[in-house]
Amino acid sequence: MLLTITTSHEPATDLGYLLHKNPSRLHSFSLSFGQAHVFYPEATLERCTAALLLDVDPVGLVRNRKGPAGEGGTLEQYVNDRPYVASSFLSVAISRVLSSALGGRSKGRPELAATPIPLHATLSVVPCRGGERFLRRLFEPLGYSVAAEPHPLDETFPEWGASSYYTVQLSGTVRLQDLLTHIYVLIPVLDNEKHYWVGDDEVEKLLRHGANWLASHPEKEEIARRYLKYRRDLAKDALARLVDEEIPDVDIAKAVHDSEEEAVERRLNLNEQRLNTVVAALKGAGAKRVLDLGCGEGKLLRVLLEDRSFNEIVGVDVSHRTLQIAHERLRLERLPGRQRERIKLIHGSLMYRDKRLAGFDAAAVVEVIEHLDQPRLAAFERVLFEFAKPATVVVTTPNVEYNVRFDSLPAGKLRHKDHRFEWTRGQFSEWAERIAAQYAYAVRFLPVGPEDSDIGAPTQMAIFDRT
Ligand code: SAH
Repeated sequence: MLLTITTSHEPATDLGYLLHKNPSRLHSFSLSFGQAHVFYPEATLERCTAALLLDVDPVGLVRNRKGPAGEGGTLEQYVNDRPYVASSFLSVAISRVLSSALGGRSKGRPELAATPIPLHATLSVVPCRGGERFLRRLFEPLGYSVAAEPHPLDETFPEWGASSYYTVQLSGTVRLQDLLTHIYVLIPVLDNEKHYWVGDDEVEKLLRHGANWLASHPEKEEIARRYLKYRRDLAKDALARLVDEEIPDVDIAKAVHDSEEEAVERRLNLNEQRLNTVVAALKGAGAKRVLDLGCGEGKLLRVLLEDRSFNEIVGVDVSHRTLQIAHERLRLERLPGRQRERIKLIHGSLMYRDKRLAGFDAAAVVEVIEHLDQPRLAAFERVLFEFAKPATVVVTTPNVEYNVRFDSLPAGKLRHKDHRFEWTRGQFSEWAERIAAQYAYAVRFLPVGPEDSDIGAPTQMAIFDRT
């Protein structure tokens, strides 16, 4: 199975930076189902092509019991199309071998990774159950021009007609991340074979990779149904959580607060003051069951755990890695049984409706909203205030007016490189007042940290109470 990706965006060899693979070398990887190789059949300044070659081992598949468990008897276990066609194995290979590019990250060319460039992908053999029309219905709404060349069932017997296999070419001006993501999700949808990855976390995976485009795709029902292999419960769950029209963003998964912002704010010991103020607001509301949304590495969770008045504490974050760190820092493994039962960490995005978030007394959203793309705040607002609807919501965010006080921060720069925005007090209160009016909450504001009469305090906080 061969996937090639070509660009003519000059210097075309920058494709190597986008894929994190040097064009002058062959890169080989062992995967559970075989070998993957990345190489560049052409690499000039005008045109560069990267190839991902998958060498699926059908015997290994049977041994590992992960492949299509041959329903037609043992022979089919060994003799099948899996080594030759684009299937979920290609998606797995993309996520393993090209994970940075799939996540939109490029160390060497970050701006280019965020820029739509002319890209052309060729998939040597794609099983299109549903035919060429379905293939087009999947890719054309995403802005690709599609060429599909059908393969005869057997060249020596033309009268047998066409097979359901096509060589597929996709061209468009898109970000490389988009192209890879679309292939990642839609190839298994086209293939429609059983693949071995269907489990509950597939819903998360689909939502994560479908961020930005699935909610508005005309075939979203069919995509979810096939991706989740007809498990109707899962497909329904996925569709229900695509908050209509809102375009989620989960790239921010990487948005772990790093030392940059902490260094800027350290002198004030702002973090501690913020946590104390949040906890005071939660206790003031009489909350017992609380959510920490975008809990990060668990600083607030630790304080909540220490206070017996909170008897159910749930931390939510979109980043797996961050949750792992929280798990370790809080030493959850070592907590005695009763304590352990009070706290739960869940992986999820605040951009999607999530039943697990409903019915709480309060939610804290501490230094999170500024990590969300502003146009997508709308999805978050609905998820929190319309669907999860805790009685009290505490939101904190930087007050940008205060930044002039941070000596180490150049003028006009935000406190952290992942912040999508930082608001003035006016902007924050306008946002919060609108939400309060729209979802029937009353809102009040509190400064956090030393307050200046002109520019306010470093952190601003809003407390919403459901009316
Ligand atoms: N509340 C923590 C962490 C703030 S950093 C603290 O005060 O220390 C922002 C956090 O929000 C990160 O951990 C990031 O992974 C998380 N995040 C960003 N976008 C998210 C989303 N869409 N859904 C859930 N969490 C998200």
